[in-house]
Amino acid sequence: MRIDVLTLFPEMFTGPLTESIIKRAREQGRVEIHLWDIRDFAEDKHRITDDYPFGGGAGMVMKAEPVARGLEAVLSAGERAGVPVILLSPQGRLFTQEVAKELAAHPRLVLVCGHYEGIDERVREAGLVTDEISIGDYVLTGGELPAMVIIDAVVRLLPGVLGAPASAVEDSFYHGLLDYPHYTRPAVWRGLAVPEVLLSGNHQAIARWRRKEALRRTLLRRPDLLRRAELSAEDRVILSQLVQEEGVDLKGLLEEG
Ligand code: SAM
Repeated sequence: MRIDVLTLFPEMFTGPLTESIIKRAREQGRVEIHLWDIRDFAEDKHRITDDYPFGGGAGMVMKAEPVARGLEAVLSAGERAGVPVILLSPQGRLFTQEVAKELAAHPRLVLVCGHYEGIDERVREAGLVTDEISIGDYVLTGGELPAMVIIDAVVRLLPGVLGAPASAVEDSFYHGLLDYPHYTRPAVWRGLAVPEVLLSGNHQAIARWRRKEALRRTLLRRPDLLRRAELSAEDRVILSQLVQEEGVDLKGLLEEG
C-alpha cells in the first residue's frame, strides 16, 4: 500500500511512523508513506498557505490553491480513479474498525490534514476530495493526529504487518465484539492468579473461555455493539447465561436493528 499525506507539519509524523510496527512495515516495504509539505505548493515566496476568513471572525483558514496544487502533484489526473482522497475533518463520517478494514483494501490512500479553522470549503466543493473522516466527536488543532491514527489502524491490518496473523482478527471490534482479557507470566502476580483454563493446554477449552469473556466484556461495557456483532447460535446461548450471571437488563437489545 502507498499512503500520501498532505500537511503543514510533516515533522509531527516523526515518532509514530518511525517506531515499532509501523517502522518495520515500512522497512519491509509493506507500506510506503510519503509526507508532503503543503507550504511547498504555496504561490508566493513567503510560502503563505493561510489567510483571514471572509466574513471576519477568529482564526485563519487554509488557502485552497496550495492544497489543490499539492493534491495535483500527489495524484496525476490519470492516477485519480478509485483512490480515496480523504480530508480529515470533525464533520466527516466516523472512523471505526470497519472503515479501517475498508481503507486497508485500497492500494493507495491520500490523507489531507487541515489546521487552524480548516481548509477553504471550495477544495471540497471542487471535488478534490472523495471522503471526509472524523476520528471522534471532539476538535483537535489539526488533522495530523487523526491522519496518524488512521495510518496506524490501517497499516496493522495489511497482510504480514502483525507478527501473529490472527492478532488483528482477535482484536476488539474486528468481529464486532470487545477483545477477551489477556495475561502473561508470572501465573500468580501479587496474589492474583491467571484463570486456570489458560494454563490447561486445552485449546478448545481456552477458545471457549475467550469467546465467553469477549461476550461478557462486550455485554458489560459496550452492549450497543451486540446489535451488529456476528453472533452464532452458541454465542446467543452463552449471552443468555451471562445476562443471568451478571444480572444485566438487555431489554430487546439483541432483537433491534
Ligand atoms: N472549524 C472546524 C470545525 O469546527 O469543524 C474545526 C477545525 S480544526 C481546529 C482544524 C483541523 O483539525 C480540521 O480541519 C481537521 O483537519 C482537523 N481535525 C480536528 N478535529 C478532528 C477530528 N475529530 N477528526 C478529524 N480531523 C480533525
